[in-house]
Amino acid sequence: GSNRLIDLIREELAAQGLDEHIQVRSTGCHGFCEQGPILIIEPDKTFYTKVKPSDIPEIVARDIVGGEKIERLLFKDPLSGETASTYESVNFYAKQNRVILKKCGLIDPERVSQYFAHQGYRALEKVLQKMKPEEVIEEVKQSGLRGRGGAGFPTGLKWSFCRAAEGDKKYLICNADEGDPGAFMDRSVLEGDPHAVIEGMLIGAYAIGAAEGYIYCRAEYPLAVERLKTAIGQAEKYGLLGKNILNSGFHFKLRIKEGAGAFVCGEETALIASIEGQRGMPRVRPPYPAVKGLWGKPTNINNVETWANVPHIILNGAGWYSQFGTEKSKGTKIFAMTGKVNNTGLVEVPMGITLREIIFDIGGGIKGGKKFKAAQIGGPSGGCLPESMLDIPVDFDSLGAVGAMVGSGGLTILDETTCMVDMARYFLNFTQNESCGKCTPCREGTKRMLEILVRITKGEGKEGDLENLERLAGVIRKTSLCGLGQTAPNPVSATIKYFRPEYEAHIKEKR
Ligand code: SF4
Repeated sequence: GSNRLIDLIREELAAQGLDEHIQVRSTGCHGFCEQGPILIIEPDKTFYTKVKPSDIPEIVARDIVGGEKIERLLFKDPLSGETASTYESVNFYAKQNRVILKKCGLIDPERVSQYFAHQGYRALEKVLQKMKPEEVIEEVKQSGLRGRGGAGFPTGLKWSFCRAAEGDKKYLICNADEGDPGAFMDRSVLEGDPHAVIEGMLIGAYAIGAAEGYIYCRAEYPLAVERLKTAIGQAEKYGLLGKNILNSGFHFKLRIKEGAGAFVCGEETALIASIEGQRGMPRVRPPYPAVKGLWGKPTNINNVETWANVPHIILNGAGWYSQFGTEKSKGTKIFAMTGKVNNTGLVEVPMGITLREIIFDIGGGIKGGKKFKAAQIGGPSGGCLPESMLDIPVDFDSLGAVGAMVGSGGLTILDETTCMVDMARYFLNFTQNESCGKCTPCREGTKRMLEILVRITKGEGKEGDLENLERLAGVIRKTSLCGLGQTAPNPVSATIKYFRPEYEAHIKEKR
């Protein structure tokens, strides 16, 4: 409903003769989904939530003209019951560490001047004027940045492979094929701060020696595609894309490729096949894309959030960046927090924060005063963690050690009313549907697992079902061709591990 509100507030200001004195800025997403549409009045930063069209005349008359805050539109903390009148005093934001999301909700993403005003393209200027490509790669290596798309591979190292690969032409790709159910981190960055991704790609292209790049964005993100097109046009206009960028002799051409929404196209080799016009199916690796990728040429792929980190690292230095996070997981991570939590939305936190802090301090606890039961972290291929794990640090290695993963950042919170077998069935159903069918373990194995889970949830489970699920999960994990199959059994394995009595109760129920 925000677009309607923007029109209404403009009309109301014009009717009051205030339109020349007060600017209405349309921004990207603020990330606080639960409370939208959000309206912030500057310079006080008065934070109004769940604004309706009927509230607009009152906001203009009482606040903008009268300087009075409208109590009923202010945010009330679900745990303390306290009212927060300004953006900074809302716990949801105050307890985050917003680096990548900082400009989302602040700048108008369709006006490049606002990106310039927030140090936009300064990092690009810095690398083109003062740094050699190898120095850029070294800086990214030193920062400790690991890929935010799921695998967590060190970004600087990945770039160095592609730079070292032989080839007359090299490509760069931004993976914007965000497909996890409940995940919208990349979408928000593309819609709210598209130039940050373009700038990160330009820096990467210079470091690797690539002259051409693609942003592979799902077509279900029409606003993201539109904003990217606008941003690319603006960057070209200002000599930041195309030939002889900033008179440095560096050239880079950037195109958008819209994907048709297949989850498997998030896998690097499937994504490359899709850009080439083939069916989006993974292929055996090696050769890795860094050596033989798009059109057979060395190619480097990173996702939206990874690229958006790069200008910050270059501008502020690897030392600054590595102050956030843990020893082996540096920086911040954006999570899309959904489910039975009070404050659903996008949260950006330093790696190493605990689940408890995310869910209770930022998320405001469980809806309706119910009890926390589990968190599905890392999307449909992630793991489901019980209450006893609320205090483990959220980073690549700690989560991996307990059968979960950071993944791309999906975080679904479940309360005491959730049936864990049903939850595992839901996620497996998703990955089963999205299996491309190329290899037998994933194509057939996930189907067999799903059949067993459906039977159990219908009260038709039998003795030996859990052992069969575990055996199938092990085989699928070890023998599937790509990450989709290798991780598909995770929600089932994790729920059997941590919530076995629930499975047993379902099976027993029937007898
Ligand atoms: Fe396709 Fe699944 Fe095999 Fe991946 S693991 S190639 S998604 S069938």
